[in-house]
Parts: sequence; structure tokens; C-alpha cells
Amino acid sequence: MHDSPGEVLRSIPISALEHHAYCPRQAALIHVDAYFEANTDTVRGDLAHAAVDRSGSATDRAGRQVWHSLPVWSDTLGLHGICDTVSLTADGPTPIEHKSGRYHPGGPADLQVAAQVLCLREMFAAPVPHGIVFSGRDRRRHEVTVDDTLRDRVLDTTSAVRALLDDAVLPPAVNDNRCRRCSLRPGCLPETPVVPATDLFRPRPLGEWDV
Ligand code: SF4
Repeated sequence: MHDSPGEVLRSIPISALEHHAYCPRQAALIHVDAYFEANTDTVRGDLAHAAVDRSGSATDRAGRQVWHSLPVWSDTLGLHGICDTVSLTADGPTPIEHKSGRYHPGGPADLQVAAQVLCLREMFAAPVPHGIVFSGRDRRRHEVTVDDTLRDRVLDTTSAVRALLDDAVLPPAVNDNRCRRCSLRPGCLPETPVVPATDLFRPRPLGEWDV
């Protein structure tokens, strides 16, 4: 993707869009500070992906060709990533993103699979109207239609993540319900009040000592 003639913008990992949609600080901790912690949710997610992360192609029970761990990218949008599974249907190559948890309509996973759809549209010059989020919690496929509104969300989030990576400034902690299940909580310390930079070297009041 080009900002102005001759300038190539950095390509954004699609996973960063999902992280940013959940919490901008989470995206910065992972993609700027390279900080990561595992918890039961991330381990469960890794195990769910391990079941489908075997690169190569195969034929499913319906006779459709499927690819596993397929790299995708868009030079136009400045995005790249890896699809868990892509199924070649009558609508074109359709990505299937596997999630171990509950499906939240309009949530971060929708943004992730929509970005995969946009990459596949560009790579295969095919319409690809929707992607699929497979939820391990209800063991169902959830179809995500990628219309103009969702496409704009992907573009806006891509721009926001690119600015985050370029500026390398850690956003403030959201310190709300999202933090309860976030694996980065031990290092993020969302409850810690932000000290203004001007106060960093101001002496604290003397403590009281019982002598
Ligand atoms: S602990 Fe909360 S503020 Fe920190 S990265 Fe996670 S969700 Fe964001």
C-alpha cells in the first residue's frame, strides 16, 4: 500500500487487527514491545489451532479443495497473515478462522476473518462475499458477510495499528472487564495509575516512621 508515490507503507499482521479491536494497549504490548504471556485461554486457542495448523492442501468430505495454514496478503491494503483453513467453494476461496471460545457477533474475530477475505479477494480476483468463524464453544460455523461497513472497519483499524507501530507509544490501559481474561495482565498492570511524565522526579511526601 502506498501513502504517496514512491513510499511503501509497512504491512500490518492481520492478528494485530484482532488484538487492537480487543484493546489497543494489547496490540502495542504484543506488536511493539514483543510482550506475551500465556493463560488457559491462549493455551486452549493454541490447541484448537494445532488441530488445523498442518500446511498443505486436501479434499474435504464434500469434495471441495481446502488449504491449511495458507499465507495471505494484500499489497493494496498493506496487510498479511496466515489463514487457518481456506475452502474453495462456489463463492471462491473462503477463509475459516478457528476460535476455541464463544463467538461474539461483530467482535474482533469478525475483523480478523474480514481482513483475510479482503486479501483473498485481491489474490484470487474473486468476489469472496464472506468468511467463517468456527467457534469451539458451540462447535458451529458463523458466517461473516464482508460488506462495505465491515470493509471500512478493517481499513480504519489497519490505519490505527499502523500509526501505533509507527509511533511506538503505549496506549493507556482500558482497566475494564476485558482485563479479567487478558493474558497480558501481569505485565500490563492495568490498575496502576498513570504518572504524568512531569511528576516522575518530584519527591514524594516523607513517610512516617515509628521510631
Ligand atoms: S490487561 Fe487490560 S489494558 Fe492491559 S492489555 Fe489486557 S485488556 Fe488491555
